[in-house]
Amino acid sequence: MKKVAISACLLGNKCRYDGTSNYDPKLLSLLKGCELIPFCPEDFCYGTPRPTMDLIDNGKEIKAISNLSGADLSKPIIEYAKAFFDTNKDIELFIGKDRSPSCGVRSAKIYDKEKNLIARGAGIMAKEALKRQIPSYDAEEYLEQNKQFINFDK
Ligand code: SF4
Repeated sequence: MKKVAISACLLGNKCRYDGTSNYDPKLLSLLKGCELIPFCPEDFCYGTPRPTMDLIDNGKEIKAISNLSGADLSKPIIEYAKAFFDTNKDIELFIGKDRSPSCGVRSAKIYDKEKNLIARGAGIMAKEALKRQIPSYDAEEYLEQNKQFINFDK
């Protein structure tokens, strides 16, 4: 059975910053028959509900910065990601929620210090998946690429 790491909010877990989910039945229909291994670094590290964070490029590196306090929230998320992939060494596919600063694969918004949007790229957890060369997709990207296989009866 194919092992798929997936953002927990896509499965319906109410772990978004505001206590809601990103439940995606089409995506789940597409992944039927796979072993789904959920993750949510932000809920694990900071609980739910929680203040939002943004990815800020400070010129040297990209950090997850709290929109409430301005604190650097990156380290616990990096540690969570490393521990997740160290524990689940046989993940064959990573699907992250689009635009999330933790889970977005190619869609996370990256700002400069003045909060101008300068790029889109990998969120902190997705970056670790890419570093480990796990095939990784944003949920919307994966759905678009595989839409012909969606079974609407399931
Ligand atoms: S996008 Fe990632 S960090 Fe945000 S709620 Fe979903 S699983 Fe958690």
